[in-house]
Amino acid sequence: MNVLILGSGGREHAFALKLSESNKINQLFVAPGNAGTDKIAKNININPIDFTAVKNIVLENNIKMVVVGPEAPLVEGVHDFFLADDDLKSIPVIGPKKDGALLEGSKDFSKQFMQKHNVPTAKYQSFTKDNLTDGFAFLETLKPPYVLKADGLAAGKGVLILSSLKEAKAELEEMVSNQKFGEASSTVVIEEFLKGIELSVFVLTDGKNYKILPSAKDYKRIGEGDTGLNTGGMGAISPVPFADESFLNKVEELVVKPTIAGLQKDEIDYRGFIFIGLMNDNGNPSVVEYNVRMGDPETEVVLPRIESDLFDLFDGVANQTLNEKSFSVTDKTATTVMLVSGGYPEAYLKGKEITGFNNVDESIVFHAGTTIKDQKVVTNGGRVMAVTSFGDTIEEALEKSYKSIDKIHFDKMNYRKDIGFDLV
Ligand code: AMP
Repeated sequence: MNVLILGSGGREHAFALKLSESNKINQLFVAPGNAGTDKIAKNININPIDFTAVKNIVLENNIKMVVVGPEAPLVEGVHDFFLADDDLKSIPVIGPKKDGALLEGSKDFSKQFMQKHNVPTAKYQSFTKDNLTDGFAFLETLKPPYVLKADGLAAGKGVLILSSLKEAKAELEEMVSNQKFGEASSTVVIEEFLKGIELSVFVLTDGKNYKILPSAKDYKRIGEGDTGLNTGGMGAISPVPFADESFLNKVEELVVKPTIAGLQKDEIDYRGFIFIGLMNDNGNPSVVEYNVRMGDPETEVVLPRIESDLFDLFDGVANQTLNEKSFSVTDKTATTVMLVSGGYPEAYLKGKEITGFNNVDESIVFHAGTTIKDQKVVTNGGRVMAVTSFGDTIEEALEKSYKSIDKIHFDKMNYRKDIGFDLV
């Protein structure tokens, strides 16, 4: 069978590598892909949001399954597009339809969903410019810090955490009245601040059955000690040592089961990944957010730990037979450290030659923002490569990742040297 992966990051390289291990796959395609996916699949340079272009490559290449990496095509309705087209409707898409993708596409929707189905989450209310004064009044009932979230997708920037009430009111007004995050912030969710340590749990579901994938913790800030600007993610660890069996059992009972049952009750036929951002407050889980796809860089530590055939699991998702599929995960720890372009997450240069990555033998180098120019692999984004290693302990895995990184070079390469150190 031929399979197409939509996306171009480290996450998609990790999908491609894992799927390439399946003997049930003939040829893999990645659109648009990167220099890493180019080695194991055929890259096709289209924008995954251009559904007509996606249709053409699917038909031209006899593709029989589409795996969607990023959220944008899902929120825009790529799965619905397939179902509405006679030539495409029999081709399974791994990723929810628009109705399910709203769990990520609208914070207000996802909070309503959690409340309705008794999934533990922070107390909240939503506001627009029409009830701004009610928003101010709600803020006054909360204790600092104040959490303001743009309802719609805002490239990971739509959440503000503010320490003063005055600032929170001013920002709320900026968001709803002056469209600080464009249309995305015309509705704003204000919620209680949750204490605790964050982690992510990933679920793969066929709409009826589910598998809980390994947990992971990512490191969002650019600077060591988790300081400075937010990024797409600078590294990740799996499993998360503070997510012990008893905590994960609570996550399954209190979060995963009601989420899957809630989707069924609401008649949302959800086929794909659910990424559950959680706060662990003294052993009690509370949902910070849902995402409707895998995380990046979490995928680069979660997928390598899965021993089962990923294509087989996707086949289970497509046919609602996930319960029949075997699923096993290695006990080893995986760590990944992201190499980024100097300047990222602000302005940075592209086109810098990357050397040395072929000499890495103790780690897996997942390409993210890379491309091929004049037969050389060059930087093509802020996050460039994720270096993943296994170990019996976090320390052992990290030591390998950092040793491998010493072999890799590009102009103004930057990375965090403290990934995972808080957990050892
Ligand atoms: P979200 O996009 O909703 O995940 O929010 C982005 C980040 O803001 C999260 O990963 C948390 O670190 C933080 N955050 C969001 N909501 C809360 C909350 N209610 N309490 C504490 N931190 C939060």
